[in-house]
This record gives sequence, structure tokens and C-alpha cells, in this order.
Amino acid sequence: MPTKTKATKPAAKSAAKKTLSKKWVYLFEEGNKDMRDLLGGKGAGLAEMTGAKLPVPPGFTITTEACNAYTAAGNQFPKGMWEQALAALKTVEKKSGKKFGDPKNPLLVSVRSGAKFSMPGMMDTVLNLGLNSETLKGIEALTKNPRFAQDAYRRFIQMFGRIVMDIDAKKFDAIFDGAKEKHHAKQDTDLDTNALKEVVVKYKELYKKEIGEEFPEDPYKQLELAIGAVFGSWMGKRAVDYRRINKIPDNLGTAVNVVTMVFGNMGDDSGTGVAFTRDPATGENELYGEYLTNAQGEDVVAGIRTPMKIAELKEKNPKVYNEFRAIARQMEKHYREMQDLEFTVERGKLYMLQTRTGKRTARAAVQVAVDMVREKLITKEEAVQRVEPNQVVQLLMPQFDPKAKDEAKKNGGLLATGLNASPGAATGLAIFDPDTAEKLGKEGKSVILVRYETSPEDVHGMYASKGILTQHGGATSHAAVVARGAGLPCVAGCEGIRVDEEKKLFSADGKTIKEGDYISIDGGAGEVFAGQIQTILPDYDKEEDLKTLLGWADDIRLKKSRKGMERAPEVGLQVWANADYPRDARMARRFGAQGIGLCRTEHMFFETERLPIVQKMILAKDDAERQKYLDQLLPIQRADFVGIFEAMEELPTVIRLIDPPLHEFLPSYEELLVKATELRVKIEYMQKDNVNSSTEQAQFKETEELLKAVAGMKEANPMLGLRGCRLGITMPQITVMQTRAILEAACTLKKRGVNVHPEIMIPLVGHVNELKNQREILEAEAKKVLAEQGVDLEYKFGTMIEVPRGALTAAEIAEYAQFFSFGTNDLTQTTFGYSRDDAEGKFLLKYVEDKILPENPFQSLDQKGVGQLMQIAVKAGRATKPNLKIGICGEHGGDPSSIEFCHRIGLNYVSCSPFRVPVARLAAAQAALTPISKDK
Ligand code: ADP
Ligand code: MG
Ligand code: MG
Repeated sequence: MPTKTKATKPAAKSAAKKTLSKKWVYLFEEGNKDMRDLLGGKGAGLAEMTGAKLPVPPGFTITTEACNAYTAAGNQFPKGMWEQALAALKTVEKKSGKKFGDPKNPLLVSVRSGAKFSMPGMMDTVLNLGLNSETLKGIEALTKNPRFAQDAYRRFIQMFGRIVMDIDAKKFDAIFDGAKEKHHAKQDTDLDTNALKEVVVKYKELYKKEIGEEFPEDPYKQLELAIGAVFGSWMGKRAVDYRRINKIPDNLGTAVNVVTMVFGNMGDDSGTGVAFTRDPATGENELYGEYLTNAQGEDVVAGIRTPMKIAELKEKNPKVYNEFRAIARQMEKHYREMQDLEFTVERGKLYMLQTRTGKRTARAAVQVAVDMVREKLITKEEAVQRVEPNQVVQLLMPQFDPKAKDEAKKNGGLLATGLNASPGAATGLAIFDPDTAEKLGKEGKSVILVRYETSPEDVHGMYASKGILTQHGGATSHAAVVARGAGLPCVAGCEGIRVDEEKKLFSADGKTIKEGDYISIDGGAGEVFAGQIQTILPDYDKEEDLKTLLGWADDIRLKKSRKGMERAPEVGLQVWANADYPRDARMARRFGAQGIGLCRTEHMFFETERLPIVQKMILAKDDAERQKYLDQLLPIQRADFVGIFEAMEELPTVIRLIDPPLHEFLPSYEELLVKATELRVKIEYMQKDNVNSSTEQAQFKETEELLKAVAGMKEANPMLGLRGCRLGITMPQITVMQTRAILEAACTLKKRGVNVHPEIMIPLVGHVNELKNQREILEAEAKKVLAEQGVDLEYKFGTMIEVPRGALTAAEIAEYAQFFSFGTNDLTQTTFGYSRDDAEGKFLLKYVEDKILPENPFQSLDQKGVGQLMQIAVKAGRATKPNLKIGICGEHGGDPSSIEFCHRIGLNYVSCSPFRVPVARLAAAQAALTPISKDK
């Protein structure tokens, strides 16, 4: 059929054409910032700036695909690449008005590597490429500065030899130092033109000796070798190792940027600098960076002369400063983001050489985001998305007093810098083993645990410390993971220190720190100091910018509802807090909590003056005796709840009835056994000596009775034993007393005119009948209290969903519940079949390290398993009661990715520790702004 032949022919042709004409090279004006995959970060930045009409020297980028093709072909340029590069070079020549290899007006270029992410191991930049003995003359004539020309030439030969051809830099240095000695030159700049000429001759001799060929005179040969070397560096050992460790795939490849040279070393009207458009530490809207007059870019890094602060440039060279500031402003307008810039001034004319998004501290992130909204650069939604929720944690953690820290640095107190594994600052005694750390920690001493690396056997010492320092290990090392989980500052992988755990000391920076010496660590900066540094606890009330940002976050999360999502009765994800005491409740409100999602009542039983009553109540022989002690506990609990309700006023407050197994309130079996044995022996001796032992005998009898009671309550698996609503069902008097205490307290407040909202939560329900039983008993008591008090009050009864059966039968359970709250700590334990303490102490961290589990499911919700049960429960619960209020009160309620999940499945609120409320507010807003993708 004619159509068929017609159809195949052009296709084949175009396919052939496609392979021939694959685009390997992009002029800067052909790319943009979204092409990082193809052009690398540096190339995409240069292209975007060119497109924005910023002054970028003309140039082009060879793609990362070309790099991959080069590697695949056994280090051969792909077909067509070189021709395209030559064509691009022609265009660059036209733009710059110079010619590559032209002895009269030569074009010189830099050859710069640039992968999608900046990474170590990539080839360093070669400057001044295109110089040879001919073009050198052109540069001499044009600049009328023979010394400059010779200097550029010797730099080029050195860089090319070292970077492209891998000649040992020391060999070049030896020649250069020899010349300085011979000419009695103190500084590089003291060498005159002739001396530099001698250096060039010796450099070329060295090159020939090392490579076996003359130094390439042909600029095109120079370019070809340099491009090949950049591609080759992608598969170099250092780069490959780095990618393995950081899980960066090998197939990204690096791009090569060829950029017209501009010279910052042409006199005092020239120079080079690096700067952030705003202060990356404070976020202040001021240029921040350094400038070096009469220098090329590499001089700043090499530290040959001390550069001046950009602020000084403002006074010393206002013209350059103002021009740069104007460009920086323009850059920010264009990118609508703080930038980190490299620039060079050639004879008063400014050129941009690099841009990227500026890294910043938590404080700066908040300040910049808020300022940019005020400057109308970005929207409030964007501002809210620009700050990482975990940066908020950083802002609220203890920090070093900046002045004291600067002082310590000035006085040489900085010992070493490692990985900033977990934020916060800590000062304490250096301790080298976990047992001593635990002992001193329990005595109330501030301890910093210093180890080569940590393992599960160290955990008890870590928890007792104020901070952790390790010599070895990365961001997912044991130390880092545990510290982040526990909210402890941690500097990990600090290879600058040498830890000797045997001798209990470490050395760094020529100093030795022994056990018991004070050290200070800044986990946000990764810094380790000798001595004590004053720490300050940030005051949330004074964090105006943070409060503004979180205010916007609240507007966003509470307004945005999702289409097709049953979220009732409120719209948007609320943030509540877990608080057991009035002081926690007050703190939660200050941080912006809209309710209490979990008030645990058993803490109240543990307080010293109450525990004896609690114990007698538990050990009571019969109901009547038990009631006697419960009557004593009632006013105490009532007072506790009055305190909580006073703090929360009209906000909803969920109070959970007693949850842990009763033996937790009794002395330990082992301790009692020892005591009983000792008493028995003592009595025997006393009797032998005919001493009256009646007191001891009474004590012995009491101890033995207690021992019997404790033994009777001992459980093989307390976590799965008599606890939660099972306790309320076996001993209803306890929960009846608690319900009475809660409602009497609520009535007290109501009588004062405060419209309180108590919500009584029944824990650990797995079968609807458990809830039915408890609710009937407790509701009867509630009605009785309200009738006695003559008060009309709204209260709710609900349940925790924290065992899989509860989730699976949520439709039935919802019949008897006015709200659900996911207790995801227990739900994670019972879904995985792990007991948390045993798991975290024994195998869980190994699981995470070995990637058997992606992360600790007690820190970040296991969405596939535990999350699936939650989804089932939400759906089933709301099928029974469309307006069922559902929240989460496990620790996951404060974890950003878990919060995102809670938003997605339509919960009404997350409840977390008061300290994490600001984090959750931000994370919830970000969740509201994240489009729901189908695959999620
Ligand atoms: P890195 O990735 O290490 O920052 P760069 O390619 O940015 O490497 O270059 C190193 C130094 O050389 C920088 O200071 C940069 O500004 C300077 N530089 C690069 N290309 C040129 C050029 N065409 N003209 C002048 N200086 C340049
Ligand atoms: Mg750079
Ligand atoms: Mg629980």
C-alpha cells in the first residue's frame, strides 16, 4: 500500500536525522533555569541569567547527555558534539568580538564542570584557556601589560598541567618557589615579567617530562583535552565514592561550561567577589560576601590576600558596589529568591559568573521569607513553602549566645567541625562512656557523650546526655538518628577529632580534652568548642517573624479544604497539643495549639504525695476499701483538671482515662524481694541475740504482702496485658472516679462562666463491646454529676484507635464514639508486633541503617501499613457517623511527613508535644498547599 511506504520512509529518515543532529551543545541564550538535568546547575544558572539580560560573558554548555555518551563510548565524544561546540564557539567569538587562537585579539575561555548537584570530585575550573606563545603576544599588546600576560600564561600552564593532565601540583610549586627564592621575592606579585617568563619555560619543560609531549600550542587541542578531562572526572574515584555514599545515581553526568574569560586582575578598577544577596546567617536584607581587588576568582578561595567584606566595598569603591547591588536586586527580582553569586569586575565593568539558591540558617530562612512577602516579591503561600518545618525546630532549640560563640572562635576555642547531625547547642562535661554519662546525668550534671561512634549499647548514656559528639559516621549513623529522635544536639562524623575511648580523651587542633573537661557543641553548625559557652533559650514570644509566618500558615491550612474530602465539622487540619499539666497546656496555647488532643491522667498518680494512696487503692482487699482511697484521690484529680481547664478555657480538651497496667504504680518485684530477704536475715540474728524484733517483723509482714500482691499482678507482656479500657472494665471504680473528677472540674469552671469542652477518651478499644461497657457506666456517672451540680455542659465520649482490630471494626465502634483519636505509638507497636522499647534498644536502628526499614516507624508514620489501618478506620468511622471528629495523638502528630499524611486522609487535627506545635502548624499548611497526586 502506498500509504504504508510513505509512512515508514520519512520516519526512518527523521530517525536517522535525529541521531545525526542530537543537540549536545547549548549557547547560554538557549537554556534556562529549568534545564538543570541537561545543563547542570551552573549551566542552567548561566543560561537563566543570560536570558534575564544580566551581564554574563558569552559562552555555551555541553550537556550531561554528552558526558554519558562519552562514558558509554569508552571515552569518545559523541558524534556531532565537537562540531556543535566549534559552531557555538564561532557564535561566542562574534559576541565577544575576539577570536579563539587569534594572535591579535585572542578569545580566552574558562572550562568549568557542573553537575546537577554540586559535588566534590568533579574537575576544577581551568582559566585562561586559549593562551599560547602567539596569543600571549596579543594579550600583551592589548592590555599593554606584559606582566599580566605572563602571569596569566604561567597560571594557565600550571592549571592545565595539574587539572587536565594530572601532574602533581607540588612539582609546579617547587619551580615557582625556586623562582621566588632566586629573585628574592617575598610575594607572588614581587616576580617581574622576566622572572615569570623563566617560570613559563620551566613549567613547559616539566610538562614535557611528565607527559612526554610538548605543552599543546593549539587552542583547539587545549579545549578538546579539557572537555574530555571534565567528562572523565565524572567517573573519577572521588566522584564515584561520593555518589555511592550519597545515593546519587551515576547516570546524571556532568555538563561542561565554556565561558569567555573576564579578568579581575587588570588593576585596581578590577576585582572579583562572592556574595549572597542577603545575609545567610540573619536573613537581613544586606549584601553579604567578600571582594578582592585586582584578583582572579581562584585567589579568593586560595586565600592569597585577605579579601574585604562587601560592606567595606561600599565605602572603598561605591561605584562597583552600587552596580553590584543593583544587579543583586535584579537577580532577586528575577529569581524571587535569595541568591549566592560569583562575579568579576574587569576595568569597572561587572560580570556575573555564577548563581545558585543561597543556603541559609533557620533564622535567615524565616526572615527572608517574611521580608520577601512584604517586598511583594513572593506570595504568602510561597513564603510558607520556603521554610522547612524542621528549621522551626532549630529556631526554638537552645542556642549559643552569638556573642559568646564569636568570642570563643576569636580565642581559638573552635576545635573542629563535623556533620551538623541534629540541631541545638549544648555545653557540658566531656564523657567517654555511656555508663558514666548516665550516672552523672542522673546526678543532674550536664554531660556531652563523646564516642568514636555509637551503638545500641550506648543509648542509655545518650539519653542522659545534653549532646552527642562522634568522630565517625554520617547523617544516618546511629548517633545522628538517636539524637534527632531524642531532640538532642549532635555533631557526628567529626573526623577532625581523635577519640581514645580507652584513655578517655580526645585530641583536636593540637589540644587534648580529658574526661570531665568542659566542651560545647553546636549541632546546627556542626561545631565543637573547648570550654563552656553561654546558651540561651529562644523566646517564642519575641520571634515576630516566625509568628507572622505561622499566622499565614494558619490562614492557609484552615481555609484550604480538599475537594471530595469529608472533613467535618471543621475545615482544615487543626493543630492540637499533648499536655498533661497546666504548664504544658499554657505553653501549647502560646505556641498556637487549638486544643488538647491528649491529657494523660496517670502522671497525676505518680506524684510523690499521691503514690502511697494510689498503691493502697490498688492493693485494696475489697471494693469498699478501694472506694475509700479513690475518694481521697478524687479531690486531687479534680484540682488537676481545674488547672488544665483554666489553661485551656474554651478550647476542646481530650482527657484520657487511666491507661498503663497497675503494677507500674507499685514497687518493683526484685526490689521487694531483696528487702524481704534482708529483713528476714536481720530478724533471725536479732532473735538469736534475744533482741526485740517486733518492728522488723511488722515490716517483714508488710513487705511480704506487698510482694505477693506485686507477684499476682506481674505480667509476661505488660504492653499486651491488663491495661487501657481492660483496666476500666475490671475495676470500673477507677474510671468512674476519673470521670467524676473531670466533670466536677468542668462544672466548677462552667459556674465561673468559662465554657469548657471536656472530651473523655477511653483507651485501647479493640472490640465495640469494650467501649459500650465503659461508655454506659461512665455516661451514667456523668449524668449524675451534672444533675448534682445543676449545670448544663457539653461533653463527649470517644475512643482511641490504637490496636488493629479497633481500626478494622471502626464502623461498629463509631456507633458508641463521638470522636476517634489515633494512638499511633501503640498502633505502630501492635501493627508491627514490636514492643517499642525492645525494638529501639535492640534491632530497630540496625533495621534503619541496613535499610530494611526506610526509617524508624515510631518517628515517621509507616503509611503503607499503619497508615492503611488509619485510612480504613477513617472511612468506616465516617460511614457510620459522617461528622465523626478524628485526630491523631501519637508522637507522629509532630512529624512533618506524617502530618502531610494525616491531612491527606482527612483528619480533623494532629496533636503533638507543645514544643512541636509551631512545626506542625507550618507542616500542616504545607500539606494543604501540596497538590494531591493520584499515586499517593
Ligand atoms: P566552582 O564550581 O569551584 O565554584 P567555578 O567554575 O565557579 O568553580 O570557577 C572557579 C573560579 O573561577 C570562580 O571564582 C569563578 O568566578 C572563576 N571563573 C570561572 N570562569 C571564569 C571566567 N570566564 N572569567 C573569570 N573568572 C572565571
Ligand atoms: Mg563557582
Ligand atoms: Mg496507647
